[in-house]
Amino acid sequence: MTRLLIVGPQGSGKGTQGVRVAEAFGIPAISTGDMFRAAVSGGSDLGNQVKAIIEAGDLVPDSLTSAVVRDRLAQDDAAEGFLLDGYPRNLGQVGDLDAFLQGRDEQLDAVIELSVPRDESISRLSLRAQEQGRTDDTEEVIANRLGIYERETAPILDVYRERGIVDAIDGVGTLDEIEQRIIAALEARGLVRTADV
Ligand code: AMP
Repeated sequence: MTRLLIVGPQGSGKGTQGVRVAEAFGIPAISTGDMFRAAVSGGSDLGNQVKAIIEAGDLVPDSLTSAVVRDRLAQDDAAEGFLLDGYPRNLGQVGDLDAFLQGRDEQLDAVIELSVPRDESISRLSLRAQEQGRTDDTEEVIANRLGIYERETAPILDVYRERGIVDAIDGVGTLDEIEQRIIAALEARGLVRTADV
């Protein structure tokens, strides 16, 4: 049973590391950004509701986001643990997640805080914009998203720090180096991985 959250600014590599770490611990990586993008490209009702919000780099309303996550966490593959990427993203969502997990008699084991200097995340995002053409990677939207991160998301780390579950990880280095740092921090908490990496 390993329940993890990875937090970092856009361009920190949290999506990539989230997938790697989830694989190492044998748990699903659950990314709200990926779920919303899939809904948009699939043209579902949810997708239509969130399309404009995502393109502007704003946050989808908490009630909607928390409902999507609750549904996802109720699926069988998340019964033995999970890694959340991109949720919770503000204090309201922390409250929603706490309520949901308390109802299942569960709690987060660790929160991985992936740190990269602002310049580095901006240059990684510009590169991703060229490579993947994500519509929320324009310069203006990137600035909006980083501002929201600093104002709304960074404060959730204070809450989790008070609970003693945050591992701050330097997000500069090769993908393998960063993954090893994260895994070492989680193992130091007594969490056990299921796969060799
Ligand atoms: P990400 O890939 O995590 O950067 O998410 C892409 C976009 O999806 C964000 O800019 C938001 O518009 C939306 N989004 C993802 N996660 C959340 C969340 N927890 N709360 C609100 N909006 C979210």
